[in-house]
Amino acid sequence: MLFSSIRRAAVPAIAMLAAVVAGFALVLAQATTPAPPAGQTPGDLGFTDTPMLPGIPWHVHDPARPHPPVVTPAATPGGAPSDALVLFDGRDLAKWAQHGPKDEIQPPKWPVRDGYFEVGPKTGALYTRDSFGSVQLHIEWASPTPPAGNSQGRGNSGVLFMGLYEIQVLDTFNNPTYADGQAGAIYGQWPPLANVARKPGEWNVYDIVFEAPAFDNGKLVTPAHQTVFWNGVMVHNRKEVMGPMIYRDVASYKTPHPAELPLMLQDHSNPVRYRNVWIRRLGAYDRPEQR
Ligand code: MG
Repeated sequence: MLFSSIRRAAVPAIAMLAAVVAGFALVLAQATTPAPPAGQTPGDLGFTDTPMLPGIPWHVHDPARPHPPVVTPAATPGGAPSDALVLFDGRDLAKWAQHGPKDEIQPPKWPVRDGYFEVGPKTGALYTRDSFGSVQLHIEWASPTPPAGNSQGRGNSGVLFMGLYEIQVLDTFNNPTYADGQAGAIYGQWPPLANVARKPGEWNVYDIVFEAPAFDNGKLVTPAHQTVFWNGVMVHNRKEVMGPMIYRDVASYKTPHPAELPLMLQDHSNPVRYRNVWIRRLGAYDRPEQR
């Protein structure tokens, strides 16, 4: 009897205390959370009464956190988004050059045909006129058909970031060769996780994220990393690169190089075709002004 009357008395007291606490929390939230625009409710644009995220100056759901830049995607899958630098759109090689005998810049000799361009065998490598560091690259390629040669002599070319770090291009459809030299390989280092080769003459797609190495005072600080999707299949997942491409030797970062260098496509004497090439410099978290 005594206990139940105490309980009866305590219930309104607890309810009142809860109401006071809730009211106080509401006042606090209203004081620290931005007022919503018309048609929205508190919290739509974020909160400042939330915990801080570790190591960065933002609350969880912070309304002041910078928003990423708006990028308009291509109308069709594989097309260049609005912030990409289009390196080849099917028409000309204006964004590319070749090097003469004294390393002078020359207009490309590689032929452009019906929406694609082709390696000009023995004319030398093709370089972008611009230099790049860390990038996302989209590039499509097709091996010659009918196929000619075998192993490294069949449909060999390559995509060399900074002119140094190769993702191999090779006709790897029923063409045995060493694993770290097949298409999709980080040449001489890591075979791709799968062989996703299409038949000669059919278009393959590479979507590659290349992270440039960093040097400080002539010493390597961060090695390069490569992430590769080949025809939509992940074949390298942020794989650490041992060093610039080298044949029959162990790659290493012997020589420091600039932070940005031209992208290169390899002339390995085989008429490999390329089309739909675009590139984006990598962005940085919370720094929408970068790029
Ligand atoms: Mg090659």
